Amino acid sequence: MPDYTIWVLENAHALEHTVGGILYGRYNEGTRVVPFGYYALEGDARTILIDTGWDDEAQSGHAYGEIAGATDWQGPREVLGRIGIDPDEVETVLLTHLHFDHAGHVAAFPNASFVLQRRELEQAVTAIASPPRLHWLRTALNPDDVIAVVGLAREGRLTLVDGPIDNVLPGIHLRPAFDTHSAGIQYVIVDTDSHGRFVLSSDVVYSYDNIEGLDGDGKYIPLGFAVGSQTATLHAFDEIMQAVDFDRRRVVPLHDAKVWERYPSSTHGGLHVAEICSPEAALDGRAVVAAERT
Ligand SMILES: [Zn+2]
Repeated sequence: MPDYTIWVLENAHALEHTVGGILYGRYNEGTRVVPFGYYALEGDARTILIDTGWDDEAQSGHAYGEIAGATDWQGPREVLGRIGIDPDEVETVLLTHLHFDHAGHVAAFPNASFVLQRRELEQAVTAIASPPRLHWLRTALNPDDVIAVVGLAREGRLTLVDGPIDNVLPGIHLRPAFDTHSAGIQYVIVDTDSHGRFVLSSDVVYSYDNIEGLDGDGKYIPLGFAVGSQTATLHAFDEIMQAVDFDRRRVVPLHDAKVWERYPSSTHGGLHVAEICSPEAALDGRAVVAAERT
């Protein structure tokens, strides 16, 4: 089995995101800090990203960031530079879905090949081609991003997949969660030699509260925002939990500031970097996984 270092990199945050946007039905329950970010993996002589953030310097990217209440944005050169990665080095980008905060900056990775579920692209095109009365279906979808992703296909840098893919790269598995948060979203399972399995959930799971329940009662709470079915969403939570033998600390969402507490992390200009695991951490006796820190 290959070994990977896995990071979560924060590229912006919303300081007052409504709790109801994260947890279904929790209206009038105030706000919380919600990070935005993406995952980076290094190992097996590869540099891999899962999602790309967005380009806040582009007019449309900035507009979507404003709608989401995102502030303190930083671009990938700065964010990835913290862990010694140059965007030009990224070889593979696994896109979980096409929402602006996940697939909005593909041009920043000129040497990367991209992998996406076919259903996500097809349904995104369908949503942006819908009449105005159906525009809720394109919430968080920036048409400029969809066009940029199609442009990758013209350059021979886009692979569309259908359903689960084992070992898309060694030890890295794609799992669709169709008709949940978005029409064709997928999450990523990473099996590492020194630290075992992690599920990088992206927005299939927004926060630990979704899978841990309120006050840790263990009852799943649907997402505050899903274009698909909440039944499908809860079943996706359960698939994820089964994939890690119900060790919820091996599930890593992107929109939960608890990630910075549960894993070794540092801050840079107010933005966080969390190291989920690394082969070196096993060798030098640092925390084996955050599982043992909480
Ligand atoms: Zn998101």
